Amino acid sequence: MIHTKSEEIYQEALKHIVGGVNSPSRSYKAVGGGAPVVMAKGKGPYFWDVDGNRYIDYLAGYGPIITGFGHPHIAEAIKLAADTGVLFGTPTEHEVKFAKMLKDAIPSLDKVRFTNSGTEAVMTTVRVARAYTGRTKIIKFEGCYHGHFDQVLVAAGSGPATLGSPDSAGVPQTVATEVITVPYNDTEHLQLAMDKWGEEVAAILVEPIVGNFGMVMPKPGFLEYIHKVAKEYGALVIYDEVITGFRFHYGGAQNMLGFTPDLTAMGKIIGGGLPIGAYGGRKEIMDTVAPLGPAYQAGTMAGNPASMLAGIACLEVLQTPGVYEEMDRLGAMLEKGILDAAEKHGITITVNRIKGALTVYFTDQKVENYKQAEQSDGEMFGRFFKLMLSRGINLAPSKFEAWFLTTEHKEQDILETIDAVDYAFSQLK
Ligand code: PMP
Repeated sequence: MIHTKSEEIYQEALKHIVGGVNSPSRSYKAVGGGAPVVMAKGKGPYFWDVDGNRYIDYLAGYGPIITGFGHPHIAEAIKLAADTGVLFGTPTEHEVKFAKMLKDAIPSLDKVRFTNSGTEAVMTTVRVARAYTGRTKIIKFEGCYHGHFDQVLVAAGSGPATLGSPDSAGVPQTVATEVITVPYNDTEHLQLAMDKWGEEVAAILVEPIVGNFGMVMPKPGFLEYIHKVAKEYGALVIYDEVITGFRFHYGGAQNMLGFTPDLTAMGKIIGGGLPIGAYGGRKEIMDTVAPLGPAYQAGTMAGNPASMLAGIACLEVLQTPGVYEEMDRLGAMLEKGILDAAEKHGITITVNRIKGALTVYFTDQKVENYKQAEQSDGEMFGRFFKLMLSRGINLAPSKFEAWFLTTEHKEQDILETIDAVDYAFSQLK
């Protein structure tokens, strides 16, 4: 596969954009370096790079692209916004319609607010929890990534984990002291932390299903425990559903698993590929937000018609009967193909799959927390990533990320992917 034009554009990018990329995870630093492939266009589950190579994509823009690229229903919605005004700085009907759609899908949301990114959404839930409880400390879980604001760049997963800088430079120590990090799926540590600081804890912030050190399910009893101990100490529970919202079924992981958090942050999928975030929760907590209450949050672009219309259109596609079942079916087929190929070639892997999302860890251990995910062989993953790319399969360039299916992947794409996995594993030995 020739990547001459990608190389040229990346060399030019390095002169003008820091690191040549607009988000660190997009560089190939975690997979042994090299010029990232520069994409030109996409359609359905495929995209093409500037050299004309075609890839079956499992990155899905790091999660949002659940209906594939250029979905006609979403394209139509974006065109409508382009033709009728992308921003007014006033209320619109679209944002009301979309807020109602989210509430109908996720009953814990009495009221919502739209933001421009997942980071902003989570950041505001933390502020609102502090405003509502009058406390300052936050408990989060090791390896869970919640965006790039100061307070959650402490033992964060995903990009920061891969890059080996879990505590970003520039985050004051005073901020970090307000954040307590506990291993995921570890009720004992959580209890210890709450026994020590419980009275000062404003909220326990959690990815109800982890997407940021690969896909990891909460162990039976873990989320129950979070809710129980939070209640005991008068702390709120915040679910970060930026990845999980509408990923596994129509609604949040909270509906799938049967929990009711006090506050929820969302992003990614709900924007249909356009920039978005949203947060919401119980009425009395949300009413602390300005202009009703003293907790401030705002945004020039928040609730803009383009993101609202694209988000509505995306959710409409996801209301089609059977779409999640089909992603689950194809996900199972892909998982089986990967495991069979590993066995055939004597490659040791662990696969964590949740419906249409999975992670391949190069380890013989089960993966239930960040430390176990870290054991996945990064050098081996790097070689696997590049072998897959050479066969026209695009994965996220990090051992900590997931493969995401879309509503547009078909059986033939899965078979082609399994063939590529078979080839890659044959070369890895
Ligand atoms: N929360 C989670 C769980 C995420 O995975 C991410 C992004 N990967 C964020 C928050 C931040 O979202 P954004 O990149 O839109 O700011």
